[in-house]
Amino acid sequence: MRALVLRKPGQAYLETIADPATTDTTVLLRVRMVGLCGSDLNSFRGLNPLVTYPRILGHEVSATIVEDLGREAVLRGGTNVTVSPYTNCGQCSSCLRGRPNACQFNQTLGVQRDGALTEFILLPREKLYPANLTLKELCLVEPLTVGFHAVTRGRVTANDTVAIWGCGGVGLGVVAAANSRHARTICIDVDDEKLDLARMAGAQLTINSTQEPLHERLLEMTGGRGPDVAIEAIGTAATFRAAVEEVAFTGRVVYIGYAKEPVSYETRLFVQKELDIIGSRNALPADFEAVIKLLEAQTFPIDQAVSLVVPLEQAADALRSWSDNPSRFRKIMVSMD
Ligand SMILES: [Zn+2]
Ligand SMILES: [Zn+2]
Repeated sequence: MRALVLRKPGQAYLETIADPATTDTTVLLRVRMVGLCGSDLNSFRGLNPLVTYPRILGHEVSATIVEDLGREAVLRGGTNVTVSPYTNCGQCSSCLRGRPNACQFNQTLGVQRDGALTEFILLPREKLYPANLTLKELCLVEPLTVGFHAVTRGRVTANDTVAIWGCGGVGLGVVAAANSRHARTICIDVDDEKLDLARMAGAQLTINSTQEPLHERLLEMTGGRGPDVAIEAIGTAATFRAAVEEVAFTGRVVYIGYAKEPVSYETRLFVQKELDIIGSRNALPADFEAVIKLLEAQTFPIDQAVSLVVPLEQAADALRSWSDNPSRFRKIMVSMD
């Protein structure tokens, strides 16, 4: 079968690889569409510290079940599913604490193990989520779940104003999840198009931090206190610091982004503000179920969120142009049909 193999940073080729060998505990899936996100772009550029090469990318997946499992009506052959791309070992402290999303030995599809930019993949049935959604929508489930999980980690309530740095797929998930809890949302980005999309996804307020003074605007929007919850979904030193600096006293800071360099802080603020500083990684099954419900309700701006769909043959070129011009695309999807 065909696959897009990333031999080393910047070098992706369409290659023929062996068909997967089915087992009793896995389900054979025909891949239909794969979403590419910032972490795939980082892998392509050699900037993702978690990835090893050669690697087949792809962790945002819509697929069709090939074989009929028989026992369970919802997982019949022909059923469209999205997948949870994570693994959990069951033994580490995260797994033992009921937080398998942060498994110490997690292997995400397309990062620590080969992913979905190929014709067929095998996954355990508990990683499959059937849903009444289009192929594009199924691919958007995973990035949105990461935002949903961060909102749970931040214990967001209807009394909170939530500031979100970064309006990519994950940031939009934060907006949707905060809305579902009736919180107020302020989106911060450097790209007006992304801010427009955030508004379509339900953000009440937006700030373009290259054109407006961030600190002053946040104070205006929050009665002089700063946001109750600050959620960082970019991964730069400046935005890591800004979250701590701008959040209200006794507020909560949630980090989703992976910073690519060490970040230095005025740690006095941690103590003085008595902050809860929280990491948020991947997502739990409940997050997948919540996002599927959200998308099934047809309130999310799917078409505006996806800027380009290409066939597998053009995926390497698409990654190259994205890498050359990162602000030109919102989300790229690869169609395998
Ligand atoms: Zn992703
Ligand atoms: Zn584990």
